[in-house]
Amino acid sequence: MRIRNKPWADDFIKEHDHIVEPSPYAQKGSWRQLFQKEQPIHLEIGTGKGQFIAKMARNHPDINFIGIERVKSVIVGAIKKVKEEDVVNVRLLNVNAENLCELFADDEIDRIYLNFSDPWPKKRHAKRRLTYHTFLKQYQQILKPEGEIVLKTDNQQFFEFSLVSFSQFGMVLDEVTLDLHQLKDPENVMTEYEEKFSEKGNPIYRCKAHVPA
Ligand code: SAM
Repeated sequence: MRIRNKPWADDFIKEHDHIVEPSPYAQKGSWRQLFQKEQPIHLEIGTGKGQFIAKMARNHPDINFIGIERVKSVIVGAIKKVKEEDVVNVRLLNVNAENLCELFADDEIDRIYLNFSDPWPKKRHAKRRLTYHTFLKQYQQILKPEGEIVLKTDNQQFFEFSLVSFSQFGMVLDEVTLDLHQLKDPENVMTEYEEKFSEKGNPIYRCKAHVPA
């Protein structure tokens, strides 16, 4: 993704501290109480410009959504989307998702979405992939028992890597779809990348997995 530097991003983020949580590490263990309604929490890692999380929040008022995006110039787009949808069940975190166990207590999260995660195709960068086993270990810890991971990508190599990684970790694969859009799933909410790649004719892969209790 070509990211244009936005010198105003810092101020914009600070002005929206009801959307971007200013002290995320202090909320560990009490995320549920931070929202207007105490209800299940779905976490998206690598939220990008926020189309998915904002629309999901609009479609599912009975769920609280947390989106993690480490790039300031990108998260500002997500803030705008959340404002456009006028939803109160979203918080965005401008942090790196490397230390999730410092952000969330055990079992605090009900579902994790990984949407078009950076594939890091070079072997020497495999540890950076969000489905590398070190990340899966953290997901297992913060997810409630039987909590689900839902992954979408257009990148075949990353998809295959993730399926193997999930299986080797002992996760159960609940769904593996090689052409999501052919399913015409009415619940599917497209991300920015999903729109871009499907317009090019790329098939979209999706898998759902959970760690057995
Ligand atoms: N999910 C969006 C979509 O589908 O349109 C954006 C996909 S983009 C390829 C991946 C996004 O994840 C980027 O905005 C990147 O900054 C963010 N990201 C990647 N690794 C991250 C990490 N470790 N912590 C937080 N954000 C991350």
